[in-house]
Amino acid sequence: MTARLMDGAALARQLAADTAERAARLASASGIRPCLAAVLVGEDPASVTYVRMKQRRSADAGFESRTLRLPASTTTSELVEAIAGLSADQAVHGILLQHPVPGHVDERAAFEAIAPAKDVDGVTMHSLAAMALGEPGFRSATPGGIIRLLDAYDVPLAGQHAVVIGRSPILGKPAGLLLLARNATVTFCHSKTRDLPAIVATADIVVAAVGKPEFVRGAWLKPGAVVIDAGYNAGNVGDVAAAEAAGVASLLTPVPGGVGPMTIAVLLAQTVDAAYQQVMEPASTG
Ligand code: NAP
Repeated sequence: MTARLMDGAALARQLAADTAERAARLASASGIRPCLAAVLVGEDPASVTYVRMKQRRSADAGFESRTLRLPASTTTSELVEAIAGLSADQAVHGILLQHPVPGHVDERAAFEAIAPAKDVDGVTMHSLAAMALGEPGFRSATPGGIIRLLDAYDVPLAGQHAVVIGRSPILGKPAGLLLLARNATVTFCHSKTRDLPAIVATADIVVAAVGKPEFVRGAWLKPGAVVIDAGYNAGNVGDVAAAEAAGVASLLTPVPGGVGPMTIAVLLAQTVDAAYQQVMEPASTG
């Protein structure tokens, strides 16, 4: 079997075009352009690059954008205050805190300063609870992109065994919750899981979100499994041994060009959603 590659880059372009169209409609109806504020603490080169890319994509979609750059020495309370300021600012519709933040900062406290109505990256406890309960709310951007990819390729989810490797609050955990909400039977695996290959061998859908290059081997996979590689490691290498997996899986996300481009596309789509809610239905967002 040779796996079909799931073209996240093409799907992200479609979503970005739809987002730009919706942003233009909002602007012509209200005179207001969606505004995404990015908060960057410190000078980590990868984070600087990510924020620059997100701001460029925001501009391409016709958004306003702001970047709040804070020094690496910023304290938790200074960061919380800065984010709370953006949460209260009516001109800002979505807030992105680029993470990881420096080690001395309480990242959870910083995330929680984002108003739920502006949590377009889906990182707050409110958003996680909404995903867990199947209530309306913003999805974590990468898991939201994974679900859109699965839907775009008509992958059935109900009753399927989905094995999610990784349980981080921004990726593994919400990915599993969104799959559960779609009636998949979900197994979460993590660093303490015993006999991971045997569990993966029972999966119809594998989501690899481990942060270790080529960690998931082709020999672990059930023939015909759908493999979502959310990993992004140095040298453009995913968390799945792609050449091996391609011989066993039915569908596989490439790295790069699979999950990665969907993350920014979902972030921007959710920023337009937030702007519509705040501009056109302000009563519903408080
Ligand atoms: P993370 O916070 O480091 O979480 C890694 C998870 O993998 C943890 O839950 C950990 O388990 C689990 N793990 C570690 N070693 C394991 C092992 N030997 N067996 C089973 N599970 C193991 O990482 P993350 O932020 O979720 O990111 C994961 C990957 O996705 C990285 O490659 C990252 O670059 C990528 N990523 C991509 C995007 C994108 O836009 N494409 C966005 C975010 C992240 P414990 O909980 O037990 O420690």
